[in-house]
Amino acid sequence: MRSVAIVGGNLAGGRAVETLRQAGFDGRITLIGQEPWRPYERPPLSKEVLWNPANAPDNFFLQTEDWYNENRIDLRLDTRAEAIDLAAGGVRLSGGELVVADQVLLATGGHARKLNLAGADCANVHYLRTRDDAERMAVDLQAGARIVIVGMGVIGAEVAASAIKLGCDVTAVEPLAVPMERALGQRFGHWLGEEHRKRGVKTHFNRGVTGFKFVDGRVSAVEIDDGTLIECDAVIVGVGIVPATSLALDAGLAVNNGIIVDRQCRTSNPAVFAAGDVAEQDGFFGGRFRQETYQNAADQAQAAALAILGQEVDYCKPMWYWSDQFDLNIQFSGQIPVQAEVVLRGDMGSNAFVAFFLSGGTIEGLLAVNRASDMGIGKRLVERRAKAGAAQLGDPDVPLRELLKRAN
Ligand SMILES: Cc1cc2nc3c(=O)[nH]c(=O)nc-3n(C[C@H](O)[C@H](O)[C@H](O)COP(=O)(O)OP(=O)(O)OC[C@H]3O[C@@H](n4cnc5c(N)ncnc54)[C@H](O)[C@@H]3O)c2cc1C
Repeated sequence: MRSVAIVGGNLAGGRAVETLRQAGFDGRITLIGQEPWRPYERPPLSKEVLWNPANAPDNFFLQTEDWYNENRIDLRLDTRAEAIDLAAGGVRLSGGELVVADQVLLATGGHARKLNLAGADCANVHYLRTRDDAERMAVDLQAGARIVIVGMGVIGAEVAASAIKLGCDVTAVEPLAVPMERALGQRFGHWLGEEHRKRGVKTHFNRGVTGFKFVDGRVSAVEIDDGTLIECDAVIVGVGIVPATSLALDAGLAVNNGIIVDRQCRTSNPAVFAAGDVAEQDGFFGGRFRQETYQNAADQAQAAALAILGQEVDYCKPMWYWSDQFDLNIQFSGQIPVQAEVVLRGDMGSNAFVAFFLSGGTIEGLLAVNRASDMGIGKRLVERRAKAGAAQLGDPDVPLRELLKRAN
């Protein structure tokens, strides 16, 4: 194996090239990315980059330009891969050039889902995926600006918090009953909704957007399904991502809600791998999922790079993500099982607590709010499928480390 092409130049692609070199691969590596930027971190785009223009996204590149030169990475930025053409021996670029590759890693992630409404592409309707999106959005997040957030998943909730911090007048519209319901469930989603309200976010939950009103080609109001008109200066849409699977589909790879991979991160073609937000993989507690988290993109890409080099890999990890909203650091590991038994450690009212989600006595999920220091061991409890009784879990005098020891 002499050459690897990686399609997708963000977190998963970036971590994969680093791993290939760190593991001693000396052959040709081409990293193809359609954004003009070398790999960078997306999490600051909804947080630090919006809070303070001095936090220029330049601070969040994974590596310096020199690193790619020194490591002989052929960086093809601002370039779209049009086809995986293994019969011809590689990946076809937008200009027609063929990048020669014995193996290919698809790290194509996803793009922000657009609203299916007239005017959803007006200049003051923002979607947030790339640093260019963040820079455009930041211009509209001025103190006093009336901002409507459509969709209170993680991105919508983070931008709502950032907009409040910037002095905007924020109204959130969410079709489900609470924010981040899929991630946190009803009870903790309700708690989060209250925290947003306390800090000034006006909320319309259980409500969908039905249309926009316009003045001079810009959206001037958002209409929701109870007839309310919310006047605004800008709209931020956070209604999820669409995985970028078109290359895989055209190449005849197996695709479901993402590109299907096994635990070696291999697709249905043994010379093609996939990792990150685009990959549908085995869930740690069963089922098959795409994870849309930073840690998965980094770790799965690393696993894929090692598998490309022929190393033994068995990648199947519980989900872990964090989110920062106002003064709340929210971290979650694992999953919320159906009909979970929930045990609280700490007091939700103080905004510093841990919640355990159990199924049949096994810890399958753990939510830590402003308790980041508990997450290290918390993640290991989930990974070990630790069993513990409600009394011990709820007792702050029983250290989590002790529960981990008992689980061994
Ligand atoms: C604003 C924001 C905040 C976030 N905050 C958090 C957080 O706090 N915590 C957390 O856990 N996660 C967070 N995430 C999620 C995390 O950033 C993603 O899971 C991660 O970026 C996924 O990386 P990826 O490389 O798989 O995909 P992507 O980041 O989507 O990168 C894929 C790249 O491939 C390129 N591409 C696609 N098709 C082609 C093609 N045909 N040719 C060439 N290039 C192509 C795309 O342009 C893109 O640059 C956040 C995401 C966003 C957008």
